[in-house]
Amino acid sequence: MTPLIVQKVPLLDISRQEKPILPELNEAVQKVLASGMYVLGPETLRLEQNLMQYTQAQYAVACASGSEALLMALMACDLKPGDEVIVPSFTFFATASAVARLGGIPIFADINPDTWNLDAADAARKITARTKAIIPVHLFGQTADMDAIQDLADAHHLVVIEDAAQSIGAEYYNKKLQKSVRAGTLGHIGCFSFYPTKNLGACGDGGALTTNDDILSDKLRKLRNHGMEPRYYHNIIGINGRLDAFQAAVLNVKFSYLDTWCAQRQKNAMLYHELFTAAGLTEKIQLPAYPKTGRHVWNQYSICIPDGKRDALRDFLSSKNIGTEIYYPMGLHEQECFQYLKCSDAELPVTHKVSRSIMAIPIFPGITYEEQAYIVDAISEFYVKS
Ligand SMILES: *Cc1c(COP(=O)(O)O)cnc(C)c1O
Repeated sequence: MTPLIVQKVPLLDISRQEKPILPELNEAVQKVLASGMYVLGPETLRLEQNLMQYTQAQYAVACASGSEALLMALMACDLKPGDEVIVPSFTFFATASAVARLGGIPIFADINPDTWNLDAADAARKITARTKAIIPVHLFGQTADMDAIQDLADAHHLVVIEDAAQSIGAEYYNKKLQKSVRAGTLGHIGCFSFYPTKNLGACGDGGALTTNDDILSDKLRKLRNHGMEPRYYHNIIGINGRLDAFQAAVLNVKFSYLDTWCAQRQKNAMLYHELFTAAGLTEKIQLPAYPKTGRHVWNQYSICIPDGKRDALRDFLSSKNIGTEIYYPMGLHEQECFQYLKCSDAELPVTHKVSRSIMAIPIFPGITYEEQAYIVDAISEFYVKS
């Protein structure tokens, strides 16, 4: 094989996505600048309409970030100090910190070893009389096992808050309805993030909530603006969770490209599967599972290197100028700030194991065939040498 000449493959290159649409983005930002409406306003309303249409949710409330979305979702459900909320330990910090910030108790559940999403059976074991809600995370772009989670929630009267921060556009095939349903409409409230690394990324922070419940929708809208209605009258305590209009304008431009970018991510994922299989690497590394029904939107393409060689492989790829990242290097139950919860590794064996072996490789829209082949070749070379 002739060696491929590739300069550098970053984990994510946002500029490749943005370059072709820079004139459009510029125009949208200039319009906001000229309008003098910098917070909420018509661009935010249009974003909410785009979100309703795209997720098929009846209501959408844009907000300042995915973290604020999670916090507001729990506030809207009247989470009280001492209430327990089941969350996966293998997720981004905000899933659990939102619970703790309200005085709630995050109860960490383990994950499925193939999908790395919440293990409903382990969640079931952790339900008590104090359990108020469950937050399934649709990790890396793939929906959690929602039928099982919904059954649990129904049986125990739990609120289901989806952390769809990484999964806008992901679909879950609902066996009862016999159709695919989009992330954000699978529970009571869906939470989205528009942090720049997400599939729909702002040029700054942004987030949103979706729901089919009109009472929750009204409450979320109010919570976003200090519980204020009418102006300077507050009957509930909210936060400043407002979105700025520049971000809304950027997101409205990017919305029309989201499905094209999604399709590119899916194509890139399938190419990795082919390349890893052709290279005979599937015995050595665990590829990400994906559903035969539904829709995976591949915010990340993570692989597991189960033989203790993950960090050595990561160093090797770094020496070849290939960007990687570890989502996540440990379970949240291991974080210093959550030690008071006294949750041991023995309780979460899959989370512990996966966090020590997982690694994300580049999958962004715009990565070339040559770059993906270069990455797989480099991984092959590592295994020949070690
Ligand atoms: C990004 C992310 C969040 C937080 O979103 P921000 O917009 O960064 O506040 C929450 N949960 C998960 C799973 C995420 O990936």
